[in-house]
Amino acid sequence: MSTVRQLTPSRRQLRPSGKLRQEDARRHHRALLLQQLFQGGPASRADLARSTGLTRVTVSDLVAGLLDQGLVSELGAPVESRVGKPPTLIGLEPDSTHILALDLSAVGVMTGAVVNLAGDVVARLDKPSEGRRGSAAVALVHELTRDLLGLTDRPVLGIGVGSPGIVGTDGTVIDAPNLAWANEPLAAGLRTVFDLPAHVSNDANTAVLGEHTFGEAGEGGLMLLRVGSGVGSGFVLEGALLHGHVGAAGEIGHVIVDPDGERCACGRVGCLETLLAVPRMRARLATGDPVAELTRIGESLGGVLAPIVGALNLHELVLSGPAELLDGPLRAAADRTIRQRAMPVSAEHLVVRTSTLGDDVTLVGAAVLVLAAELGVA
Ligand SMILES: [Zn+2]
Repeated sequence: MSTVRQLTPSRRQLRPSGKLRQEDARRHHRALLLQQLFQGGPASRADLARSTGLTRVTVSDLVAGLLDQGLVSELGAPVESRVGKPPTLIGLEPDSTHILALDLSAVGVMTGAVVNLAGDVVARLDKPSEGRRGSAAVALVHELTRDLLGLTDRPVLGIGVGSPGIVGTDGTVIDAPNLAWANEPLAAGLRTVFDLPAHVSNDANTAVLGEHTFGEAGEGGLMLLRVGSGVGSGFVLEGALLHGHVGAAGEIGHVIVDPDGERCACGRVGCLETLLAVPRMRARLATGDPVAELTRIGESLGGVLAPIVGALNLHELVLSGPAELLDGPLRAAADRTIRQRAMPVSAEHLVVRTSTLGDDVTLVGAAVLVLAAELGVA
């Protein structure tokens, strides 16, 4: 498991009062401690003090608070300690609190899950969206959230949502044409209705967080390419989610890659989506030789990704979507083309792979939004 820094961009703030600063410090220390338990597993208070750089007194005080809340428990002494008073290990209680996670990016269905602190899905629920748009789609999100709430008997830490479209840092969906949402205050609405913290992010950004925290990602730069009814991507660079100037980082689906190509749903010609969106790929495979078609698509994709790999010196490129389309000739051709076109130093350590989390990557990432915002860990 690896770390994500603060999810929201830093802002100039009014100078906090002394009391606020003390609370901030305590919250920060608590997050450090939880992060260490997330990454390192159970540890004694002394180990926690060493690894976080906090004093023993601070650690003991914070651990007492976390024990009270039930977020951690005392696990007893490690078997190897034989001399003197054995230290008690402190470990996270993964089911002390649950997270409601929603993925709105699939076609024709909204998927939801109850996820625990370890990123495990403990219950799941789907709702066919039956073409609902606008306020009817918002109502369905609320219905799914309410039903998920009924599937857990634990305190709920918060609601996390991966939504298609451009999403502002305050959880307002600025533009999601498929759901007919424009400036829809999705997070604020969920907070009001359910009286719980709610966090909404773009589905590709959510997915890359899921991969980063609960997938097999390393510490280097990570790009996740989401391939579904549309195409989007998310980046975790230097340990932080990349937002971009207006929150639209990773929106490469409507970049024109073939000016002589097919017309796109957006009205322009030859967008990356016309090449890579699942319905378009399936249509091509139905008429041509599948291996040749997937190889050709993979080569075009590699040509699009090579400059990105070169510019960002990425470590991992994760293709997320239907494995039968992505994880074969397409991936191999994209991998080969990137290596041919990028400088050897850029591509030498690059890994091009699919996600071990499969279709759950966005759901699990939606839980990471809540973990990061509410507990300071991810
Ligand atoms: Zn387009």
